[in-house]
Amino acid sequence: MKNKFPDGLKAVMFDMDGVIYDSMPNHVISWVETFNAFGLVIPESWAYMQEGRTGESSVQMVFAEQRDRKATKEETEAMYKLKCELFASRPKAEIMPGIRDLFAKVKNSGLAATIVTGSGQRTLLNKLNTDFPGMFQKELLVTAFDVKHGKPNPEPYLKGLGKLNVSAAEAIVIENAPLGIQAACAAGVFTVAVNTGPLPDQVLLDAGASMLFHSLSELSDKWESLF
Ligand code: MG
Repeated sequence: MKNKFPDGLKAVMFDMDGVIYDSMPNHVISWVETFNAFGLVIPESWAYMQEGRTGESSVQMVFAEQRDRKATKEETEAMYKLKCELFASRPKAEIMPGIRDLFAKVKNSGLAATIVTGSGQRTLLNKLNTDFPGMFQKELLVTAFDVKHGKPNPEPYLKGLGKLNVSAAEAIVIENAPLGIQAACAAGVFTVAVNTGPLPDQVLLDAGASMLFHSLSELSDKWESLF
Protein backbone atom coordinates (compact mmCIF):
# COMPACT_ATOMS: atom_id res chain seq x y z
CA MET A 1 0.00 0.00 0.00
CA LYS A 2 1.17 3.52 -0.86
CA ASN A 3 0.32 6.62 1.16
CA LYS A 4 1.05 9.25 -1.52
CA PHE A 5 -0.04 9.79 -5.10
CA PRO A 6 2.74 9.66 -7.73
CA ASP A 7 4.65 12.91 -8.34
CA GLY A 8 3.70 14.95 -11.38
CA LEU A 9 0.04 13.96 -11.30
CA LYS A 10 -2.03 15.57 -14.08
CA ALA A 11 -5.26 13.60 -14.41
CA VAL A 12 -7.80 11.37 -12.69
CA MET A 13 -9.80 8.64 -14.42
CA PHE A 14 -12.98 7.65 -12.60
CA ASP A 15 -14.84 4.39 -12.98
CA MET A 16 -18.62 5.03 -12.94
CA ASP A 17 -20.65 2.14 -11.43
CA GLY A 18 -19.99 1.82 -7.72
CA VAL A 19 -17.81 4.97 -7.73
CA ILE A 20 -19.96 7.83 -9.10
CA TYR A 21 -23.37 6.14 -8.93
CA ASP A 22 -24.58 3.58 -6.40
CA SER A 23 -25.68 1.45 -9.34
CA MET A 24 -24.05 -1.88 -8.52
CA PRO A 25 -27.01 -3.37 -6.59
CA ASN A 26 -29.17 -2.70 -9.69
CA HIS A 27 -26.63 -4.31 -12.03
CA VAL A 28 -26.25 -7.33 -9.77
CA ILE A 29 -29.97 -8.05 -9.36
CA SER A 30 -30.49 -7.53 -13.11
CA TRP A 31 -27.78 -10.09 -13.93
CA VAL A 32 -29.08 -12.61 -11.38
CA GLU A 33 -32.63 -12.32 -12.82
CA THR A 34 -31.39 -12.48 -16.42
CA PHE A 35 -29.43 -15.68 -15.86
CA ASN A 36 -32.40 -17.15 -13.94
CA ALA A 37 -34.69 -16.42 -16.88
CA PHE A 38 -32.37 -18.54 -19.05
CA GLY A 39 -32.15 -21.39 -16.51
CA LEU A 40 -28.74 -20.41 -15.15
CA VAL A 41 -27.93 -19.63 -11.53
CA ILE A 42 -25.26 -17.18 -10.36
CA PRO A 43 -24.63 -15.90 -6.84
CA GLU A 44 -24.65 -12.12 -6.30
CA SER A 45 -20.96 -12.29 -5.37
CA TRP A 46 -20.22 -13.56 -8.91
CA ALA A 47 -21.76 -10.42 -10.39
CA TYR A 48 -19.70 -8.21 -8.04
CA MET A 49 -16.52 -10.10 -8.92
CA GLN A 50 -17.18 -9.76 -12.66
CA GLU A 51 -18.14 -6.07 -12.58
CA GLY A 52 -16.67 -4.26 -15.58
CA ARG A 53 -16.78 -7.25 -17.91
CA THR A 54 -18.78 -6.63 -21.09
CA GLY A 55 -22.26 -8.14 -21.29
CA GLU A 56 -21.19 -10.64 -23.93
CA SER A 57 -18.12 -11.70 -21.97
CA SER A 58 -20.20 -12.23 -18.81
CA VAL A 59 -22.69 -14.42 -20.66
CA GLN A 60 -19.91 -16.45 -22.33
CA MET A 61 -18.21 -17.03 -18.98
CA VAL A 62 -21.34 -18.49 -17.37
CA PHE A 63 -22.11 -20.61 -20.43
CA ALA A 64 -18.58 -22.03 -20.41
CA GLU A 65 -18.87 -22.87 -16.71
CA GLN A 66 -22.44 -24.18 -16.61
CA ARG A 67 -23.34 -25.32 -20.14
CA ASP A 68 -19.87 -26.36 -21.31
CA ARG A 69 -20.41 -24.61 -24.65
CA LYS A 70 -20.35 -21.16 -26.19
CA ALA A 71 -23.50 -19.07 -26.13
CA THR A 72 -24.82 -18.28 -29.60
CA LYS A 73 -24.96 -14.70 -30.89
CA GLU A 74 -28.77 -14.84 -30.45
CA GLU A 75 -28.41 -15.98 -26.82
CA THR A 76 -25.86 -13.32 -25.87
CA GLU A 77 -27.93 -10.61 -27.56
CA ALA A 78 -31.19 -11.75 -25.96
CA MET A 79 -29.60 -11.96 -22.52
CA TYR A 80 -27.86 -8.60 -22.69
CA LYS A 81 -31.10 -7.02 -23.97
CA LEU A 82 -33.05 -8.49 -21.04
CA LYS A 83 -30.35 -7.39 -18.58
CA CYS A 84 -30.55 -3.81 -19.90
CA GLU A 85 -34.37 -3.84 -19.72
CA LEU A 86 -34.32 -5.11 -16.14
CA PHE A 87 -31.67 -2.53 -15.23
CA ALA A 88 -33.71 0.29 -16.78
CA SER A 89 -36.77 -0.81 -14.77
CA ARG A 90 -34.96 -0.57 -11.42
CA PRO A 91 -35.30 2.51 -9.18
CA LYS A 92 -32.75 5.08 -10.33
CA ALA A 93 -29.29 4.77 -8.82
CA GLU A 94 -28.37 7.54 -6.40
CA ILE A 95 -25.20 9.58 -6.61
CA MET A 96 -22.53 8.00 -4.41
CA PRO A 97 -22.16 9.83 -1.05
CA GLY A 98 -18.99 11.94 -1.02
CA ILE A 99 -18.47 12.03 -4.79
CA ARG A 100 -19.46 15.71 -5.18
CA ASP A 101 -16.88 16.75 -2.56
CA LEU A 102 -14.27 14.59 -4.26
CA PHE A 103 -15.02 16.12 -7.69
CA ALA A 104 -14.65 19.60 -6.18
CA LYS A 105 -11.27 18.67 -4.72
CA VAL A 106 -10.07 17.19 -8.02
CA LYS A 107 -11.02 20.45 -9.77
CA ASN A 108 -9.32 22.55 -7.08
CA SER A 109 -6.17 20.46 -7.49
CA GLY A 110 -6.07 21.57 -11.14
CA LEU A 111 -6.27 17.99 -12.41
CA ALA A 112 -8.00 16.91 -15.61
CA ALA A 113 -10.73 14.32 -15.08
CA THR A 114 -12.66 11.82 -17.12
CA ILE A 115 -14.75 8.67 -16.74
CA VAL A 116 -13.72 5.25 -18.04
CA THR A 117 -16.59 2.79 -17.82
CA GLY A 118 -17.50 -0.53 -19.36
CA SER A 119 -21.10 0.61 -19.14
CA GLY A 120 -23.22 1.21 -22.19
CA GLN A 121 -26.22 2.18 -20.05
CA ARG A 122 -27.42 5.32 -21.80
CA THR A 123 -29.69 6.21 -18.85
CA LEU A 124 -26.67 6.73 -16.59
CA LEU A 125 -24.40 8.19 -19.25
CA ASN A 126 -27.03 10.78 -20.17
CA LYS A 127 -27.46 11.76 -16.52
CA LEU A 128 -23.79 12.71 -16.04
CA ASN A 129 -24.04 16.21 -17.42
CA THR A 130 -27.24 16.94 -15.53
CA ASP A 131 -25.89 15.64 -12.23
CA PHE A 132 -22.39 17.12 -12.52
CA PRO A 133 -22.59 20.13 -14.86
CA GLY A 134 -19.20 21.24 -16.19
CA MET A 135 -17.28 18.39 -14.55
CA PHE A 136 -16.74 16.17 -17.60
CA GLN A 137 -16.27 16.75 -21.33
CA LYS A 138 -18.30 14.34 -23.41
CA GLU A 139 -15.49 13.78 -25.95
CA LEU A 140 -13.10 12.64 -23.19
CA LEU A 141 -15.41 9.92 -21.80
CA VAL A 142 -14.60 6.27 -22.50
CA THR A 143 -17.67 3.99 -22.51
CA ALA A 144 -18.65 0.58 -23.83
CA PHE A 145 -19.11 2.27 -27.22
CA ASP A 146 -15.40 3.20 -27.44
CA VAL A 147 -13.69 -0.13 -26.81
CA LYS A 148 -13.41 -3.59 -28.29
CA HIS A 149 -12.21 -5.25 -25.09
CA GLY A 150 -13.80 -4.57 -21.72
CA LYS A 151 -12.05 -4.60 -18.36
CA PRO A 152 -9.86 -6.46 -17.22
CA ASN A 153 -8.23 -5.68 -20.60
CA PRO A 154 -6.23 -2.43 -20.30
CA GLU A 155 -7.80 -1.00 -23.48
CA PRO A 156 -10.43 1.22 -21.75
CA TYR A 157 -7.82 2.91 -19.54
CA LEU A 158 -5.30 3.19 -22.39
CA LYS A 159 -8.04 4.93 -24.42
CA GLY A 160 -8.65 7.24 -21.45
CA LEU A 161 -4.97 8.19 -21.28
CA GLY A 162 -5.03 8.87 -25.01
CA LYS A 163 -8.10 11.08 -24.79
CA LEU A 164 -6.63 13.01 -21.84
CA ASN A 165 -3.27 13.21 -23.64
CA VAL A 166 -1.30 12.19 -20.54
CA SER A 167 1.09 9.29 -19.88
CA ALA A 168 0.30 6.40 -17.53
CA ALA A 169 2.72 7.88 -14.96
CA GLU A 170 0.78 11.18 -14.93
CA ALA A 171 -2.61 9.72 -14.04
CA ILE A 172 -4.44 7.83 -11.32
CA VAL A 173 -7.54 5.64 -11.53
CA ILE A 174 -10.32 5.45 -8.95
CA GLU A 175 -12.01 2.03 -9.06
CA ASN A 176 -14.26 -0.17 -6.92
CA ALA A 177 -14.03 -3.47 -8.81
CA PRO A 178 -11.34 -6.18 -9.05
CA LEU A 179 -11.43 -6.38 -12.87
CA GLY A 180 -11.35 -2.58 -13.15
CA ILE A 181 -8.31 -2.45 -10.90
CA GLN A 182 -6.64 -5.17 -12.99
CA ALA A 183 -7.38 -3.19 -16.16
CA ALA A 184 -5.94 0.03 -14.73
CA CYS A 185 -2.83 -1.73 -13.43
CA ALA A 186 -2.34 -3.47 -16.79
CA ALA A 187 -2.42 0.01 -18.36
CA GLY A 188 0.38 0.97 -15.96
CA VAL A 189 -1.70 3.46 -13.97
CA PHE A 190 -1.55 4.00 -10.17
CA THR A 191 -4.87 2.68 -8.88
CA VAL A 192 -6.90 3.83 -5.90
CA ALA A 193 -9.48 1.30 -4.71
CA VAL A 194 -12.66 2.49 -3.05
CA ASN A 195 -14.41 -0.54 -1.62
CA THR A 196 -18.08 0.44 -1.88
CA GLY A 197 -19.41 -3.12 -2.25
CA PRO A 198 -19.54 -6.43 -0.36
CA LEU A 199 -16.19 -7.93 -1.50
CA PRO A 200 -13.33 -8.28 1.02
CA ASP A 201 -10.65 -5.51 0.81
CA GLN A 202 -8.05 -8.18 0.07
CA VAL A 203 -9.70 -8.98 -3.28
CA LEU A 204 -9.14 -5.37 -4.39
CA LEU A 205 -5.58 -5.29 -3.05
CA ASP A 206 -4.77 -8.61 -4.73
CA ALA A 207 -6.07 -7.11 -8.00
CA GLY A 208 -3.25 -4.55 -7.71
CA ALA A 209 -4.64 -1.45 -5.97
CA SER A 210 -1.95 0.87 -4.52
CA MET A 211 -4.31 2.51 -2.03
CA LEU A 212 -7.66 1.50 -0.52
CA PHE A 213 -10.46 3.53 1.03
CA HIS A 214 -13.88 2.43 2.23
CA SER A 215 -15.89 5.34 0.86
CA LEU A 216 -15.60 8.30 -1.49
CA SER A 217 -16.02 10.53 1.59
CA GLU A 218 -12.96 8.95 3.23
CA LEU A 219 -10.92 9.53 0.07
CA SER A 220 -12.21 13.09 -0.22
CA ASP A 221 -11.42 13.84 3.45
CA LYS A 222 -7.85 12.60 3.04
CA TRP A 223 -7.30 14.05 -0.46
CA GLU A 224 -4.88 16.86 0.46
CA SER A 225 -2.69 14.54 2.54
CA LEU A 226 -2.12 12.25 -0.46
CA PHE A 227 0.08 14.74 -2.39
MG1 MG B 1 -17.22 0.08 -10.86
